Amino acid sequence: MKKTGDLTDKIQIEGTVDTSKIGDYTITYRVKDTKGNEATKTRSIVVTNAPAQAKPGTDGAKGVIYLTFDDGPSASITPQILDILKKKNVQATFFILNYSDANEYLVKRIVAEGHTIAIHGYSHDYSQIYQSEEAYMQNITALQEKIKKSTGCNTIITRFPGGSSNTVSKFNPGIMTRLTKLVVDSGYKYFDWNVSSGDAGGARTSEDVYNNVTKGLNKSRMNVVLMHDFSGNTKTLNALEAIIDYGIENGYTFSRITENTPMITHGVNN
Ligand code: ZN
Repeated sequence: MKKTGDLTDKIQIEGTVDTSKIGDYTITYRVKDTKGNEATKTRSIVVTNAPAQAKPGTDGAKGVIYLTFDDGPSASITPQILDILKKKNVQATFFILNYSDANEYLVKRIVAEGHTIAIHGYSHDYSQIYQSEEAYMQNITALQEKIKKSTGCNTIITRFPGGSSNTVSKFNPGIMTRLTKLVVDSGYKYFDWNVSSGDAGGARTSEDVYNNVTKGLNKSRMNVVLMHDFSGNTKTLNALEAIIDYGIENGYTFSRITENTPMITHGVNN
């Protein structure tokens, strides 16, 4: 049943975003109530493969490091990562999955300590979430609603499981081409990464994680670093403080992804 005063289905969206073409796009959302009062909201989206051209000191500036942690929260790793971030006074972004009641305190803590809580998905099961556009959007909104209940935050920041460049969804030809457009047209932003720690794959030690990240950083662009806080990932936990020290010593600044951060996206392969 629709609540009285719910104008969701009357929202008009103006403007489109072509995520395959580099450029600045503006989307305008427009809604009128029965008395003819009109409200509008605009959102700007930057599609880039190249370094973000934001001015120094603004969101998305060159030389900024966005540390991102996927697949958590986990009781074994996330609290210790939060402790290190707090000690170093660094804010980061957590792309989370569905969480148990026992781990809800971690989701609240992430928000309370000034980090960005973001949507990876209710489920990470590729065969399930990429079976249809409806299944994928439902996978986002289910977690978005749960996060809102836990924290009051209505986050629109997302990351595709496997990244937007994934080929694990090939069983459904073209789904990523359709989803990358649909997600943005639905008012969300999605972020891939341009620095990979390898902590879910090739990196076998903390040294590997440290080397992958520090070698991947680049002063002339914004840096979105992919890491994971899933259970047992001591490789990243043990490398984190040294990575932050390296960044500070080399003149980088750290920030968290916000609604205003320009999207960093991969090319789509499906
Ligand atoms: Zn993931």
